[in-house]
Amino acid sequence: MSSSDPLRELYQEVILDHHRRPRNFRVIDPATATAEGHNPLCGDRYTIYVRLEGERIEDVSFQGAGCAISKASASIMTDALKGRTRAEARDIFDAFQAMVTGESTAEPPEGPGLDKLEVFSGVRAYPSRVKCATLAWHALQAALRHATGTVTTE
Ligand code: ZN
Repeated sequence: MSSSDPLRELYQEVILDHHRRPRNFRVIDPATATAEGHNPLCGDRYTIYVRLEGERIEDVSFQGAGCAISKASASIMTDALKGRTRAEARDIFDAFQAMVTGESTAEPPEGPGLDKLEVFSGVRAYPSRVKCATLAWHALQAALRHATGTVTTE
């Protein structure tokens, strides 16, 4: 794709918007689980916070710093996964990962609120950026795996 490709420009616009004004960029306290994600190749470093109500992701947020792709991915992920179940989050993660790693059969994740994830489909052309795009997702999956109960809030 050339740099004047309108779709690509739209994607870059979405990524830059989320990089400049990340959504859910805050601490959840108390959180059901947290996990750290670090990508030494690029220097991206994030903490993911999640609050579960049973199997449902009641709230999810992040803090940290890194490149535009990693931060936009974390921001869009938190928007996309809030309110979903752990199982749904895992399915969306699998579809997202397949899309950015460029599996030939991969379709972008589909469903309400998931259209923005497609902006990362161009990452497959840049293998070194795949880790940037998936860092927050791996951290969230780690947090969800270790989360065993529902946090008590006063
Ligand atoms: Zn990065």
